[in-house]
Amino acid sequence: MGKINAIMNKRRAVLCTIDDIEYSLRQLGRMGWQGFDCSQPCLDALGSWGTVPATGKVNHAETLEDIRHDLGDCLRCKLSASRKNIVFGTGSHQTRLVFVGEGPGYDEDLQGEPFVGAAGQLLTKIIQAMGLTRETVYICNIIKCRPPGNRNPESDEISACTPFLIRQLQTISPDYICALGTFAAQTLLDTTAPISRLRGRLFDCLGSRLLPTYHPAYLLRNPEKKREVWQDMQILMRAMGLPLPTGQRG
Ligand code: URA
Repeated sequence: MGKINAIMNKRRAVLCTIDDIEYSLRQLGRMGWQGFDCSQPCLDALGSWGTVPATGKVNHAETLEDIRHDLGDCLRCKLSASRKNIVFGTGSHQTRLVFVGEGPGYDEDLQGEPFVGAAGQLLTKIIQAMGLTRETVYICNIIKCRPPGNRNPESDEISACTPFLIRQLQTISPDYICALGTFAAQTLLDTTAPISRLRGRLFDCLGSRLLPTYHPAYLLRNPEKKREVWQDMQILMRAMGLPLPTGQRG
C-alpha cells in the first residue's frame, strides 16, 4: 500500500475510534452509568477532534499554525542534522490552489521559504501567467528540510514528513493541487508512473483534484518543455474557471 494511503487509513481509523468513544459515552451517559466522563464538555471536546470523512475530506478544526507548532524544531529524521531552516509552506491559507514541490534547495534552506531560488522565480512567473500571485496560492513541498547536496529524499524522510503535508492539505482543503515534478506527483498519487505519463491529467487526491506537471527546475534544464507546462496550466485554469489569455480560449 502507498505511504499516503497508509497514513490516511491510520488517520481514518483514529477518527472512527474517536467517533465510537463519543457514541459509547453518550449511550453510557443516557443509561446513567458512573465512572466515565459522559459530561457535555467531554462529548463536545471529542466531537471537535474530527469527523469521519464521507468523501475523503476531513472536517478539521486545526489551523496551519497548529500544525507548524506540532512540527516544532523537528528531529524526526536525519535531515534535521544538516538543515538550516524548516521550510513549512507559504501563501494563502484559504486558497483554491496549492503547489507542491519536492523539497527545499540551497536558497530555500537559507531563507526558510519554498521556491525562492532560480526554480522559484520560474514558478512565480508561471503563477503570474495564470493571472494569480504567490500570495493568493499556497506553496509547499513533500519534505520540509533540505537533503544534503540536493539529493533525492529517502523513504524514512518522506515517511516522517508526509503526515504534516497531509494535515496541511486537509486544513487548506484546496479544490486543486498542482504537483510539481516526478517526486511530488509519484508521492501524492502513490504511483511509480513517469511524470511524462502523469502530466496534463487531473486525478483525485485527498478530496482535491490534482494536476501533475514538470518541475520548474526541470524546465530550467529543458526550456523546450515550457510549452507543455503552459498547456497543463491551461487545463488547470479551465477547470478552475480562471480566464484564459485572449487567443487561448475555446
Ligand atoms: N525545488 C523544490 O522542489 N522546492 C523548493 O522549495 C525549491 C526548489
